[in-house]
Amino acid sequence: MKNSKCGIYVHIPFCKARCYYCAFSSCCDYTLQEKYFAKLYGEIAARSDKSVQISTVYLGGGTPSSVDTRYLEELFAVLRRNFDLSNVQEISVECNPESANSELLDCLKSNGVTRISFGLQSVNDKTLSTIGRLHTYSDFLSALSRARKAGFNNINADLILGLPESPSDFYRSVETVAELPVTHVSVYALELHENSPLYAISKSQFDYTDDQLADMYDNAGAVLNKHGFERYEISNFAKSGQECKHNLIYWTENRYYAFGASASGFVGDIRYTNPYSPGEYIAAPLTEMLLRGDKISLKGQANEYAMLALRLKRGVSLSEFKSRFNIGFSDFFKNAQTLFEQGLLIADGDSVRVPSDKIYVVNSILCELLSFDE
Ligand code: SF4
Repeated sequence: MKNSKCGIYVHIPFCKARCYYCAFSSCCDYTLQEKYFAKLYGEIAARSDKSVQISTVYLGGGTPSSVDTRYLEELFAVLRRNFDLSNVQEISVECNPESANSELLDCLKSNGVTRISFGLQSVNDKTLSTIGRLHTYSDFLSALSRARKAGFNNINADLILGLPESPSDFYRSVETVAELPVTHVSVYALELHENSPLYAISKSQFDYTDDQLADMYDNAGAVLNKHGFERYEISNFAKSGQECKHNLIYWTENRYYAFGASASGFVGDIRYTNPYSPGEYIAAPLTEMLLRGDKISLKGQANEYAMLALRLKRGVSLSEFKSRFNIGFSDFFKNAQTLFEQGLLIADGDSVRVPSDKIYVVNSILCELLSFDE
């Protein structure tokens, strides 16, 4: 634990309305705020550890920007009381454009927040309304300008690939965002569950095949590249030095505390996941919640490390793998040699990675590679 980086994730599940594609733990009942935050502060205090230096903090949701700022003030104070944030390198907060007002941005700035992640999703207002977003593109531009005025220079915009809109509408979003003063762009593929309100409309009007989506993703990557954004993970593009440090902690299998509904932490060799819905989280006895968790064997950790690091452009570091797990990559993963021969993995100096033109089949490569036998 001492040698690895450690992050903190806090889940804030409140949203003013449910987007029609939402698959996250979120709710619109703001009367639960008081009880939710009280439980959250209790959980943070119960998992408190001042001996660990925290590198990154990430407030996600839900819509963290939509709650009363007094809760955010209290939350940062509780985090500082219970963890050593004196060397923190990045504090990110997810914001939706309609709720990123000056009061909120000032509160975030005064609490040391360094990075804002905006849920933009599309620059097309018709698409935004079809998917149930509350903001317009012009709301986003105003929020971006307020954020920059408040002193935030490290700003992400999320886009979604595969929304019910034409490919040219999607490219308009990518091209427009690439020219804005943002330092990071995430392009997530839309995942639709059959019972989501958007499923029928998406299937009937824009039933994109995997090949079409792969082409759209490739073209988006090329546009972002042309504007100085490098892909460093399957869905993430950043200007030089602006990669999200918190997400890199996940993908390089370092350790992280996680607080709040549905949050999943990894501390020592224990992985724990909190009750999913805000209501279940509030109701769960704290003592029982703290007993949740599974010990992850070294073998399980090696599998997870490879699974996550192979999503990164830089791939798995062979020397790091050896020093963490005391065994060479190809000795641990018996199928690695076959995948090298098939060109599905490439060795490049100290790293093993998935070639960029095979990134769409990363899941099947991982199924071949990972070693589950005991
Ligand atoms: S803002 Fe995010 S968490 Fe909230 S409803 Fe929309 S998709 Fe779900």
